[in-house]
Amino acid sequence: MPVDISIRKPPIEPLHCDLLRQAGVSVNVLRLDKCHPQLAGNKWYKLKYNLLEFQQQPDFPILSFGGAYSNHLYALAAAGKLLGMRTIGVVRGEMPEPLNPVLAFAREQGMTLLPVSRGDYRRKQEPGFLEGLRARFGDFHLLPEGGSNSLAIKGCEEIASLLKWHKAGSKQLVALCCGTGTTMAGLIKGLSKIESESAPEVLGISVLKGDGYLQAEILGQLHASGCIDPIVWRVDDAHHCGGYARSNSVLQSFLDEFAGFSNLPLEPVYTGKLFYALFDLIEKGVISAGTEVVAIHSGGIHS
Ligand SMILES: *Cc1c(COP(=O)(O)O)cnc(C)c1O
Repeated sequence: MPVDISIRKPPIEPLHCDLLRQAGVSVNVLRLDKCHPQLAGNKWYKLKYNLLEFQQQPDFPILSFGGAYSNHLYALAAAGKLLGMRTIGVVRGEMPEPLNPVLAFAREQGMTLLPVSRGDYRRKQEPGFLEGLRARFGDFHLLPEGGSNSLAIKGCEEIASLLKWHKAGSKQLVALCCGTGTTMAGLIKGLSKIESESAPEVLGISVLKGDGYLQAEILGQLHASGCIDPIVWRVDDAHHCGGYARSNSVLQSFLDEFAGFSNLPLEPVYTGKLFYALFDLIEKGVISAGTEVVAIHSGGIHS
């Protein structure tokens, strides 16, 4: 049974501004955020093969985990509704009352929301904890936090074939922001399969605090998925602006400035940090003149 959720092929759009012209760097944006009204961004690619598998047993609900602002639970709730499958979202910490827009949307789509304490949430992979959930909900399809597993990597490999380059011979760089790193691992794996000598480099911008954490995490995911000879990639840990879902005045003023010259919608948790980092690295010359950048807009905009 195919996933009957079709998406629009994400367009690639150029970004224009004075800084880029002066620096001699071109930036094109792969608009994954435009591929579906509710399942937009990288979440479609992460869910795709998981949903295909779950559809083999459509009577079991899909259970997954996330924080109160989880884009993953948001997308999963929408997918469940579209596929006619029940979904259960285990939410870390207390549920805000009234519900925030993300959880309100999830409930509207029919997702059952179960708030658990932070302590219990940390036990989410323990057999005893999952047993308790089975006693409560019966059998279910289990999807890890963030939807990050090997089938998610397989889906994200497909992002590699969406990249387009305009200038032959220029230095090519793909940039994206990372939370769990699964999207980046999939992209690296996909590119490592199709590219040969002139492979682009992949730069991940960590949206969370933790030096070296995502580098190790992604390396582990690549090895586990059999990608042992990847193309060149690295994670930047210097632009998290205080940590996951944190912000600071530098990020805020960048976002204000950006909105003054571009209509590209950004939010402060993910894509805002990606473009903040890109512009900072271009300004400092770390990304040098002549480089052609494709920045992946991974979504996160809820209208
Ligand atoms: C979930 C999400 C990410 C992080 O993806 P990972 O695969 O966890 O690294 C990035 N951007 C947006 C907009 C997201 O919603």
